[in-house]
Amino acid sequence: MMDKGVLTIISGFSGVGKGTLVAKLMEKYDNYALSVSATTRGMREGEEHGKSYFFMNVFEFEDKIQKNQFLEYAKYVNNYYGTPKQYVEDMLERGKDVLLEIEIQGARQVKKMMPEAVSIFVMPPDAQTLRERLTERNTEAEEVINERLRRATVEAEGIEEYDYVLVNDSLQESMEKLHSIIQSSHHQSYRNIDFIKKIREDVKIFTEGE
Ligand code: 5GP
Repeated sequence: MMDKGVLTIISGFSGVGKGTLVAKLMEKYDNYALSVSATTRGMREGEEHGKSYFFMNVFEFEDKIQKNQFLEYAKYVNNYYGTPKQYVEDMLERGKDVLLEIEIQGARQVKKMMPEAVSIFVMPPDAQTLRERLTERNTEAEEVINERLRRATVEAEGIEEYDYVLVNDSLQESMEKLHSIIQSSHHQSYRNIDFIKKIREDVKIFTEGE
């Protein structure tokens, strides 16, 4: 039972703290694998190639699109972002619960292809907190911050499409909630069809033998 990993999509407004939440989760539990995305956006201070993202230029990115190497990809605020397919497939096969931290267009693509994926939208406790977090981060120009806030309005329209919403008020509590959402997904009946069939057959044999 429960041998394949659960694919989890985590979205949320820019600045909502998804990254920190996921980092905390990975730190505490070892059954998770975080997919590192490819992007054409510039590297921010403190980011590392291959760890935060695989940073590349538009030509490299488009070449990978051509070669069908992305599970999904999207344009977000003038840059490409995409999930490398191979890693996700390998990790799920190995039974790891794979985390994708992606925006809504990508989330829609994944859900369409893999409806068994669990999707979670991380919300701020209120809108003011979101603006403050985004401004305090201080890694982006005013113009980019405004563009990201505009984008948040667009993304807000699609929240109901997600399976779950998670309010990120207390980091520790939200992380544990995230963990329990994902772990309970393992028990969904449709993920355990082979196991169910086996028990059903075995029970039948018992009754036939009587
Ligand atoms: P940031 O530039 O702040 O790192 O990311 C901007 C947005 O792109 C975030 O909402 C993030 O979740 C999303 N994102 C990161 N990687 C991917 C990806 O591989 N695919 C898609 N569709 N979105 C991504």
